[in-house]
Amino acid sequence: MDKQKGGKRTLGERGVRMNALSAAMMLAAILTFAVLIGTTRGSITGYHDMREATERYIDCLQDTMVFQESSDYLTSECRHFVVTGDVAHAVNFVEETETTRRREKAIEDFLQAEISYGYLNRALNYSNDLIEVECHAMRLAAQAFDVAPEALPERIRSVVLTDEELAMSAEDMRALATDMVFGEAYIQVKANIRENVEKSIEVLVEERRVVQVASSEHLNGLLNRQFALSCALMVMMALIVLSIRILIMRPIERFVKSIRNQERMNPEGAYETRFLACSYNEMFDKNTRSTEALSYTATHDSLTGLYNRTAYDAARREVDEATICALIVDIDNFKGFNDNYGHDMGDRVLRKVAGQLKASFRSDDFISRIGGDEFSVIMKNADSKIRDIVLRKVRTAAERLKNPEDGMPPVTLSVGIAFGDRENPVGDIFKDADTALYRVKKNGRNGCEIY
Ligand code: GH3
Ligand code: MG
Repeated sequence: MDKQKGGKRTLGERGVRMNALSAAMMLAAILTFAVLIGTTRGSITGYHDMREATERYIDCLQDTMVFQESSDYLTSECRHFVVTGDVAHAVNFVEETETTRRREKAIEDFLQAEISYGYLNRALNYSNDLIEVECHAMRLAAQAFDVAPEALPERIRSVVLTDEELAMSAEDMRALATDMVFGEAYIQVKANIRENVEKSIEVLVEERRVVQVASSEHLNGLLNRQFALSCALMVMMALIVLSIRILIMRPIERFVKSIRNQERMNPEGAYETRFLACSYNEMFDKNTRSTEALSYTATHDSLTGLYNRTAYDAARREVDEATICALIVDIDNFKGFNDNYGHDMGDRVLRKVAGQLKASFRSDDFISRIGGDEFSVIMKNADSKIRDIVLRKVRTAAERLKNPEDGMPPVTLSVGIAFGDRENPVGDIFKDADTALYRVKKNGRNGCEIY
């Protein structure tokens, strides 16, 4: 039994420990979640970086256009003043260079390390060079148009004309000023400015493209990782659900079924469920054994091992009287036997009679001890056609008890028999067998009578 017990424990110990498995799965899920959160955060930052890069690109593009616009505005205002002598244009010119300062502001958005900045800065230098020329030309024009110096902005008023220029006629002065802002040299510098602005845009597009490709590749990598982690989490969840189903839920469902059917459990699933099943089986076996023992004691006679009175009464209720043969066997003068040979010898004889009856009748005949020295045999599927066989069985048993070969004192038996198909039944088959027995006793015992 111990060996069996040990065997069951080993079986239980073979399963996966749910305790360890759930801890490992939980840890894996938490780690994956943590990495996923980190990656999601990275993706958000990556997205913001990309947006910022795009916005910066648009800003810089606008800035270069504003720069060009401002430079052209200065040219336009300067030329207008040189041609018309209208002070408003000179004022606009100076305001643009000193207050509005669109060119300087435009370049502020650029990063100095970038090549696009270099081009725009060069354009600014050219533009600043032109401002000197333009101020000079406007000072000359102001002189030619005889504009009152107080009306001129300080920046233009402060330009000092050479004696040579001052000696010129108004017309020559205008011609010189016009040449300064419409001439070849001026146009060449303007072309340089435009060229540098265009170059700056060209480089800017390339620079931004590189930044955008890098950040979009980074973002793409993060999103791919996010997708892979989400898939891993989904697989993990599915595994958790599946393992709970296979290792816990299914075994428990089967265990419930086994309990309902009052059967042993088949140890399966996780270590814990196997252990549960093995422990249950041990208790189940113990319980079955003690129930069987109790039921044996309740239905068997402890002295002879035959069925007892309780079992006999139950059998009487259950059998179909029409198909059986009932025998009641009583030892003759057993009181006297006890008195002569003692109670112990009496017990031995009772066991001997039981043994003899078992030897004479078939194993599926129902043999019981129904009183002190009284026995009963119920033969199933037996009718009066086999009366001779029954009589022979009885006589053989009685003969062996009467002429013992084992040194024990002899005893005789009185036997009453009734068949299910007997004629004129008075009581039930057992009552009628008892009546037959009574007649044997009355006729001097040591005999057998069929009702
Ligand atoms: P009869 O021929 O009329 O049957 O006479 P009898 O003396 O056998 O009378 P009866 O059958 O009424 O008596 C049964 C006796 O069996 C009474 C008792 O002394 C004896 N007896 C009952 N149970 C036991 C037992 O367990 N062991 C022993 N040794 N004797 C028992
Ligand atoms: Mg008796």
